[in-house]
Amino acid sequence: MAKIQANRIPVRSQDPAERVKNFEEVSYGYNTEEAVLEAARCIQCKNPRCVAGCPVSIQIPQFIKAIVEGNMESAATIIAADSSLPAVCGRVCPQEVQCEGACIMGIKHEPISIGKLERYVADWAKENQFSTSEKVPSNGKKVAVVGSGPAGLACATDLARAGCDVTVFEALHKPGGVLVYGIPEFRLPKEDVVEYEIGQLQKMGVTIETNVVVGRTVTVDQLFEEGFHAVFIGSGAGLPKFLNIPGENLNGVVSANEFLTRSNLMAAYDPESETPIYVGRKVVVVGGGNVAMDAARTALRLGAEVVVAYRRTEKEMPARIEEVHHAKEEGVVFQLLTNPTAVLGNERGWVTGLQCVQMELGEPDESGRRRPVEIPDSTFDISCDVVIIALGTDSNPLIGRTTPGLEMNRYNGIVADENGVTSREGVFAGGDVVTGAATVILAMGAGRKAAKSILEFLKIGIL
Ligand SMILES: Cc1cc2nc3c(=O)[nH]c(=O)nc-3n(C[C@H](O)[C@H](O)[C@H](O)COP(=O)(O)OP(=O)(O)OC[C@H]3O[C@@H](n4cnc5c(N)ncnc54)[C@H](O)[C@@H]3O)c2cc1C
Ligand code: SF4
Repeated sequence: MAKIQANRIPVRSQDPAERVKNFEEVSYGYNTEEAVLEAARCIQCKNPRCVAGCPVSIQIPQFIKAIVEGNMESAATIIAADSSLPAVCGRVCPQEVQCEGACIMGIKHEPISIGKLERYVADWAKENQFSTSEKVPSNGKKVAVVGSGPAGLACATDLARAGCDVTVFEALHKPGGVLVYGIPEFRLPKEDVVEYEIGQLQKMGVTIETNVVVGRTVTVDQLFEEGFHAVFIGSGAGLPKFLNIPGENLNGVVSANEFLTRSNLMAAYDPESETPIYVGRKVVVVGGGNVAMDAARTALRLGAEVVVAYRRTEKEMPARIEEVHHAKEEGVVFQLLTNPTAVLGNERGWVTGLQCVQMELGEPDESGRRRPVEIPDSTFDISCDVVIIALGTDSNPLIGRTTPGLEMNRYNGIVADENGVTSREGVFAGGDVVTGAATVILAMGAGRKAAKSILEFLKIGIL
């Protein structure tokens, strides 16, 4: 029996000292030789725990086996059966708590690098122009998809595969949702990855109409009047939360959403772009999730010194481990157990610092994480020019308010069951607009479940 390779094949990445000066992708991914070596570490479990750990149940051992056999077309076909955005997921999914977290190899050794292998296969398919996307004959049913983030795109893919005429309505001028306006270029290249994968969907006959704000340009009722037989809402959770502390309206305080949208969607990271973006000399980012890491690493690349202020410890940080690791390598400073109490400013109304208190961890709260408790008399200031607030997001209430009979929750989200069925007949929903801010793959999984419900509602068998 061949000896088990305990350690992963390392993945090459841009040197930290170099990459802080550019917006090019940080991780290079595997080449063919590395991918085959890593794939050969998989012991092809009879009861693969990795598949159960994947929210869209990709047949992981099968695609890994195809890589070992050098049959990349087969690997790409296996992945495409369950995921329409493999190049995206291979780059941004939190694999350490999903498939890789469940991988049996992880008990004694390092788990298989499933995400990097998925990325390799997706990139191979693009480079070799191998595509499984094709237009199937129409079944005569028209479905409107609201929002072009991962939930909407995954729902549209499955509906198009079943022969529905799908139109995606997107409020912004580019499709992709958070994949284009939130996650930066150095983590997820837009042209090479996001636009390419959306292009595959368009090859299946899906129409994408941008600059259409459903609830304003057109209502859900009007979509039905125009002849759509069902509507899926995947409008995400793009409304930023704030701290509600004194000084938050000073010049230089910005939400991470606005900061990242300016840099990514409006291309402010490109020196040729006319979009203004202000980082000053020193930035404090408040928060500890992926959004905070993206804002911090973007500000660093725009030339600022960056501190991340987070009220718990690194262990409780919701950001992906890889992102925290990359941020540290690049020089982001982490000021942990720190809670802001006021933004400080000068007489001209500009930020000069952030007043904070020191915290310690107490008993676990309802999320299971230990609650941060303020240490008395521990106030201190961090001087800075810009404060970026990355505390999470709620949904925009527009669609709920303009769609009679659609039940909403107190966070402006849409109430839907686990199959995406809402209180309004013919209207389905999934992704962040239902769950609150979550992950790309969970949004995709919700979009797929809703597509299945829509096909049942329309009495169409899955092809
Ligand atoms: C900066 C950032 C980094 C992240 N990093 C990661 C990561 O590394 N890994 C991970 O798994 N997840 C990450 N996430 C979370 C992940 O991106 C989201 O959970 C996911 O995109 C949700 O998908 P969605 O389709 O529900 O919504 P979204 O991606 O938000 O897409 C919703 C779309 O609907 C559009 N829309 C909204 N209202 C309307 C309307 N009225 N009419 C028409 N269109 C409308 C929006 O413009 C948007 O394009 C990150 C999120 C952010 C913000
Ligand atoms: S659990 Fe790990 S070792 Fe087992 S099949 Fe999945 S990837 Fe391979």
